[in-house]
Amino acid sequence: MATVPESVKEIATYPDGLASRLQDSHGRTITDLRVSITDRCNYKCVYCRTGNVGAQYAELSTADYLRLIRAFVSLGIEKVRLTGGEPLLRRDLTEIVQELAGWRTPAGEKLDLAITTNGHLLESLAQPLKTAGLTRLTVSMDAVDESTFERVTRIPGSYANVLGGIRAAQSAGFTRVKINCVLLRGFNDDQVEAFAHFARRENLVVRFIEFMPLDEDRRWTPEMVVSLREIVARISAILPLAPLAPNTVSETARRYGFSDTPGVGEVGIIAPVTQAFCGACSRIRLTSDGKIRTCLFSNFEHDLHRQMREGASDSDLRQFILRAVEQKEARHHIGEPDFLKPSRSMVHIGG
Ligand code: SAM
Repeated sequence: MATVPESVKEIATYPDGLASRLQDSHGRTITDLRVSITDRCNYKCVYCRTGNVGAQYAELSTADYLRLIRAFVSLGIEKVRLTGGEPLLRRDLTEIVQELAGWRTPAGEKLDLAITTNGHLLESLAQPLKTAGLTRLTVSMDAVDESTFERVTRIPGSYANVLGGIRAAQSAGFTRVKINCVLLRGFNDDQVEAFAHFARRENLVVRFIEFMPLDEDRRWTPEMVVSLREIVARISAILPLAPLAPNTVSETARRYGFSDTPGVGEVGIIAPVTQAFCGACSRIRLTSDGKIRTCLFSNFEHDLHRQMREGASDSDLRQFILRAVEQKEARHHIGEPDFLKPSRSMVHIGG
């Protein structure tokens, strides 16, 4: 039998008789938690923020996040993604990662630990995060052309910083760094082909995400969305795309490699607008102020941190999470007449 190091902390199986799997009322098992650890962000990406308002929601202490995350992990969460706001702005980020990396799920497995970042501060943090036990890194990058990139972020010098951050992540040993790119018609949609070449040249995984109605400005229109179908057609016209199997059943991206450079570079398209994947959703979110969102487009939040402030026991927190997950929405309604834009935009939810 393998010896378990001292530092490893098993998540206790609680004697409260509650289920140790999170199952919603539509038969989906929830295994993936996204936690926003700050509402602050140092970029003002045009498709995300107005550029005029800053953080709007509180952030919690490290101990509070860890206690809440622990309750989720005890209920079968296997993947934890730290996000924001901009998670690299949290001074205690490496400590949070180090603590989570020492945990084991009730099944005795390590957590799959990921961060989504804009990469601005990554150059100096990539190695400490790797050493702390981070498994995966996703960096948002919405253009490979410097001037377009800086028109998106509205921060001078951002391009060099992000590129430096990506290279530092690769040197630190993150082998499959993912790049998230949101395309806006008429703004950066001319970057599609260049991104495909970039994925091959740098051996990166580029994920195009269809623009969703989650912008602070509320300027989203269906015409601004660059669809999966168009992206695949445009890349296929210049490079030999070869479909790849999904990594998991709840994989959100349609994946493609290049048949002339097998194993080098990958592109994927996440198409929540034109080809929704709600039926396979395994995700739940915790906002920076400790509220559970069962869907990006929820119109209702479950205030888990309030339970904690009011003295809830670990069992009470687990019960609260189970009830919230039961109420997870069947699907979103983007593009339908009854669609209601959610009260929080992406930056304040945690993507
Ligand atoms: N600051 C970090 C970053 O830039 O990656 C983490 C937070 S950011 C809100 C998380 C992801 O959400 C980014 O990849 C961003 O591109 C994406 N995003 C933001 N607004 C979006 C929208 N309206 N539609 C689709 N994706 C969006």
